[in-house]
Parts: sequence; C-alpha cells; structure tokens
Amino acid sequence: MNSRILPRTPFVRTRVRNLLRMSCAPLLSAALLLGPCQPGLAQYEALELGSGEPAAPALSAGGVTLFQNVRIFDGRNAALSVPSSVLIRGNIIEQISADPAVTEARAGVRVIDANGRVLMPGLIDAHWHMFMAAVSPAILVTADPGYLNLLAARQAEATLMRGFTTIRDMGGPVFGLKRAIDEGVTVGPRIYPSGAMISQTSGHGDFRSRYEVPRTLGGPLSQSELAGVAAIADSPNEVRLRVREQLRQGASQIKLMGGGGVSSPHNPIESIQFTEAELHAAVEAAENWGTYVAVHAYTPAAIRQAIAAGVKCIEHGHLIDEPTAKLLADKGIWWSLQPLTYDADVFARMSPVSQKKALEVFAGTENAYTLARKYKVKTAWGADILGDAGAASRQGQYLAMMVRWYTPAEALMMATADNGELMALSGFINPYPGKLGVVEAGALADLLLVDGNPLDDINLVANPDKNFVVIMKDGRIYKDTLSK
Ligand SMILES: [Zn+2]
Repeated sequence: MNSRILPRTPFVRTRVRNLLRMSCAPLLSAALLLGPCQPGLAQYEALELGSGEPAAPALSAGGVTLFQNVRIFDGRNAALSVPSSVLIRGNIIEQISADPAVTEARAGVRVIDANGRVLMPGLIDAHWHMFMAAVSPAILVTADPGYLNLLAARQAEATLMRGFTTIRDMGGPVFGLKRAIDEGVTVGPRIYPSGAMISQTSGHGDFRSRYEVPRTLGGPLSQSELAGVAAIADSPNEVRLRVREQLRQGASQIKLMGGGGVSSPHNPIESIQFTEAELHAAVEAAENWGTYVAVHAYTPAAIRQAIAAGVKCIEHGHLIDEPTAKLLADKGIWWSLQPLTYDADVFARMSPVSQKKALEVFAGTENAYTLARKYKVKTAWGADILGDAGAASRQGQYLAMMVRWYTPAEALMMATADNGELMALSGFINPYPGKLGVVEAGALADLLLVDGNPLDDINLVANPDKNFVVIMKDGRIYKDTLSK
C-alpha cells in the first residue's frame, strides 16, 4: 500500500481489517454487518487523507465570500449589470448590490476584488457522459472498474476546471462518483445522473459482442449491463424494472434509446426503437418518482413516438423535420441539442459504418438549429463527447461554436439559466434543489469570474485555464488566480 492511502491510526487500521474480514463473510451476514455501519464522510477522510487534511483541494470551505466590483451576466439577461458586489454565505448567493456600502467587507469575509471583471453563473452541460467522455472504447471494455472510476474522477475535476459546475449525465455508471464529489472525497461538478442507458435488444445501447447473443429469456446480464453502462429491456415490464433500478440508485432522470445511433454498429440510424407502450411504461415509472424521461432520437418518426409516449426531453434530434420541430414547441418539450459537427479526432476513431451515420447527422445540425430558433423550442445545450480525451478537453469550444446560430448571450443563457431550468425538471428527487444557472439572490453559489466579457467574445469560454480566474461551486472556491 502506498503511504497516501495507508490508514494512519490504530483505530482506523482495525476498522479496515474488520471491513476486509466482513467482506469475506457469507453474503447474508456481510449484508447484516455492513448495513448499519457504512462509512460516512468523516471515516472516508480518516481512511484516505488522515486527520487535519482537507477532503478536497477546495481553496475555501464555503464561509462568506464577497466579490467586489463585478459586472454580472446573470444567465437571463443579454446585458451586463452596473458594477456591483455579490455576497455569498455558505452555498447561497445572499446579496447583490450596486451600493458598495451595503456589501462592505467585514472581518471573516473572503474578499475578491474583481476590478470590473465579469461574474457569471457556472456553466451547465445538459448532455455529458462523465464515465465515458475521455476514455477510448478499447479501454472502456477491457479495463477494470476501479481504474475506470479513477479516470472518471480525474475527468470530473477537469470538467469543473473548465467552468462546468453542473452536468446532466446522460448515461454511464456515475452514482459512486457523484456521491464522492458531493461528500468532498473528490472534486467535480454537480452530477444529475441517468444511470444505465436503457435500450431494446439491438438498440443504440446494446453494446454486446457477437458471442453474447442470443440471450436466453431471463438469462445472465452482459458485461456492459453489469458495468451499469446499459440496460437491455424488451417489454413494458422489463422497461419498468430497469427504470426503477436506476431510480433506486439515485438517477435524477431516465434515459432511453428511442432510435438509431451513430456509435452503435447494430442499428440503422432510421430505426425506431422501443414501442410507444414500452416508452410509456418508462414515463409512468419516472413520473411516479417525480421525474421525467429523456429519449435519444434523431428522426421525426422516433421523436414523434417519444412525444406520444409522454417523454419530456428529446436528446439530439438532428434529423428532425419542420412539423416535428413545431410540435416540440407547441407541447413545450425540451430539445437537448448538440452542435455535432465534423471533429477530425472523433471521426478518425469511428468505424466505417459509424462514419457514414455520423456524416448524415452532421448534415442535419444546421437545419436542426435553424428550426429550434425559428419555433423558439426550449433548447438545452450539451457537448455529448464519447471516448475522446482531446474532444472532452474542448468542451468549452463546443459551446463557443454555438455562435454559428445564436448570439453569444443567447448561447450562454442556454448553457446557464435555460439548462438550469431543465435540471429542475427532476422535481422532488432533484439532487440539488435550489436555483442553478443564474446569478441572483437566493440562488446556489456556482460562479465564474471571467477575465474579459464573454458576451462580446464567447471564445473566452473555450480557454478556461486562462480566462476563468475564479471558479466557485456550492460556495467553495476551486480556483482563484487573483489572490496569488
Ligand atoms: Zn450521449
């Protein structure tokens, strides 16, 4: 064992030995013993870091912070505020004032003199895959889960350092990672997890190898199902079961594959996946838990079937037609759309079958954004990177790219206040109740201080290392280059 993870006190060493011994005990007694004594945060800190060290490298542990002399982009308005002060207490924005006397620095307050820089809400990515964004498919299917989780934790920290303080994870085993971030064990954004992507046999989430098919009805699960990446279901009852399993683990919304996809080899892009009855079973189970279903669908037929089943959010939709875009607008359904365009790195890694499908989707991007704008569909922004570390590191560039179709202010509103509204659709199981994506009194304190005005130059968000001088999440500062 390396000294960083070696337990430091006899008490903790005994505990670890006991835990190890328990894990060898028969299943029933292990469950009985481990149930009441699951380690809480205090024990994690003791196990991993020793006493006295902070659990996470946050530069401040909440408390009270005062940003002085900022101009605010609040997530909703296209103009900056007059020079103001913003006071954060704990994890909440307590007060915003243009009168310096109202928010004067007091003892015990961490003061950040912003010198007129722009304060904006932390960015939200509505379609991200923390477990798979930066890991190549070859590693994903061969590496052990411990290694993959460490890579995911590293990617989570990188994501936060790119200014993304919240992500909606649209598929992958991130429940443990989310817990570790929320407890301060590791660093990363808020995660709205979907858990496993639910797919029909041969659907976009059927990642099985040739030798794993056919499966006997009720037979053993495939590797990607055991890993929590996908869940295969072929009837309303099976769909209900898989949905409820994700909810049990803490999914804040449910993701189903409702049509063909690019990266999966065994389904045509035109295919309609699941039946309306199957999708409806998922919608019912999710709504009984206060939340909603999001469906992967590119074509009008797949989108329409999802709408008929009561789905509240369409993922992608790049091959949509005009009447279907209008239908989304009329019914107030969210369109989680990504600026999918040719990326040489990503394209080079695709199989010839996927390349052909990808070109079809890329060709639809222009039309999709034109229609989303024309009908004022509630549009969410997401990057949706899979399997490419280089592309994942360019997450902010995919946001900056939105100025092909929107003003910088519109694009930034989409990635802040609008996406924040979509996060709230999780209803009473929202893991982070409170306002996200806005700078206003009472909102959660997820903030970026930007060196420059992103409403003039959105490319500032594409170079977060240089341009985001302070990154705050939940009232804690994770980056501050001004105070050095
Ligand atoms: Zn995706």
